Amino acid sequence: MSKVKITVANGDGIGPEIMQATLDILLAAGAQIEIEEIEVGEKVYLAGNTSGISNDSWDIIRRNKVFLKAPITTPQGGGYKSLNVTTRKFLGLYSNVRPCRSLHPFVSTKHPVMDVVIIRENEEDLYAGIEHQQTDEVVQCLKLISRPGCEKIVRYAFEYAKQQNRKKVTCFTKDNIMKQSDGLFHQVFDEIAKEYPDIINEHWIIDIGAAKLADTPEAFDVIVMPNLYGDVLSDVAAQIAGSVGLAGSANIGEECAMFEAIHGSAPRRAGQNVANPSGLLQGAIMMLNHIGQTPVAEKIQNAWLKTLEDGIHTYDIFKEGTSKQKVSTSDFAKAVIANLGQKPVVLQAVSYAENKPMHLPKYQRKARANKELVGVDLFVHWSGLNPDELAETVKKVATGGTELTMITNRGIKVWPQGFQETFCTDHWRCRFKPTQGNQITSETIVQLLTNALQQKVEVIKTENLYNFDGKAGYSLGQGQ
Ligand code: NAD
Repeated sequence: MSKVKITVANGDGIGPEIMQATLDILLAAGAQIEIEEIEVGEKVYLAGNTSGISNDSWDIIRRNKVFLKAPITTPQGGGYKSLNVTTRKFLGLYSNVRPCRSLHPFVSTKHPVMDVVIIRENEEDLYAGIEHQQTDEVVQCLKLISRPGCEKIVRYAFEYAKQQNRKKVTCFTKDNIMKQSDGLFHQVFDEIAKEYPDIINEHWIIDIGAAKLADTPEAFDVIVMPNLYGDVLSDVAAQIAGSVGLAGSANIGEECAMFEAIHGSAPRRAGQNVANPSGLLQGAIMMLNHIGQTPVAEKIQNAWLKTLEDGIHTYDIFKEGTSKQKVSTSDFAKAVIANLGQKPVVLQAVSYAENKPMHLPKYQRKARANKELVGVDLFVHWSGLNPDELAETVKKVATGGTELTMITNRGIKVWPQGFQETFCTDHWRCRFKPTQGNQITSETIVQLLTNALQQKVEVIKTENLYNFDGKAGYSLGQGQ
């Protein structure tokens, strides 16, 4: 077998120690890899590069396409950008796969039969990082959800379930509140689920879904969700399965892939040779499967399970009575190496031989819908308190063919017929619609803005209202 060149970053804090342990195990197991090292993280940040990575390193990552990364420290403040988020988005690593399996009775957990894989959308949602302060009192963060983003991640979840012989895919969203954005995610989930009749599908509202996951994780198999929910819940799932120190993560794109532990650089444990290398090792095992070296991946995973079963544990999972020997990072790696070729006796041994390739076609853009401009929201910075007073001024902004139909404050309708109990900030949304028999055009919006200027109404942003194929592409005001 020819060697596959991979990019390796040793990271910060405990990173170099757990990377050394992981690579020792991989090479002892016969992984056919050639390592090209790059420097990313704290040193690069502190040398003045706010992205934490040099252009040369990007070239290496893009050329090798497979990246094994130890955790890095993002310095606080100073405008440093998270290298993890940047890497996922630059390289189009849309799918974040985080298996969380309990290792009862060898690793202490309240959930002995848990075996959940969280598939987190990795590029969009509130992680678009588009934030603005608009008034003295209000800032906004844009939540962007796209059809390609939803299609790619949902298809990945079903293909993963099919490949891994899993029975069910669950979707978590909050589409009872975010009807457009989470609504699209749920809608695409329902569409794609139909293509996989052999896999059970279900949708949970995230709040009760999360509660159920924390309480009865054995009820779930594969769970797919938008970015932020996946970030939070994959840490919860890893922790309740045993420890965040045990979980690995794969970030998969159409061209490149990055593999890591889910935990951070644990700076307080750095340099002591005590950290658990299991999270990064789990990431590396997913990497070996990704590059087709499944027999080596299987050999390492079974040796790792056997080592945990033998009670050879690092400090974070060591428990008097269950564990047999508390070991250092390097001694844990030696124990795994000594167990290569062996299988666990109590825990279920893994077999990756049957893994078939996933079918992940490129996204095909659909034909454009019939898009009709049906109104506009003008967002206004106004420091008054009485919405009726604002309405009197803003009504004068209307052109001949439009009228003010609604004012909301933080989404809740305050005019007409608002409640005096409703708390209002200095951020108001004023909705204009065409009057009976009229239409609204781009020119109308320009005229509205000109009128606003004349009336000294401070518009801080506009948002066009469209129907797509006759269906409203915007939400009503709460209480409307
Ligand atoms: P952390 O995950 O680094 O550590 C939290 C605690 O978990 C540690 O104090 C330690 O007790 C325990 N822990 C974590 N990993 C362990 C391991 N392998 N073995 C034993 N114990 C382990 O989280 P944090 O303290 O919030 O973050 C520290 C730094 O890591 C920050 O700079 C943060 O930005 C960064 N971080 C990086 C990544 C990444 O590179 N992927 C992810 C998360 C956080």
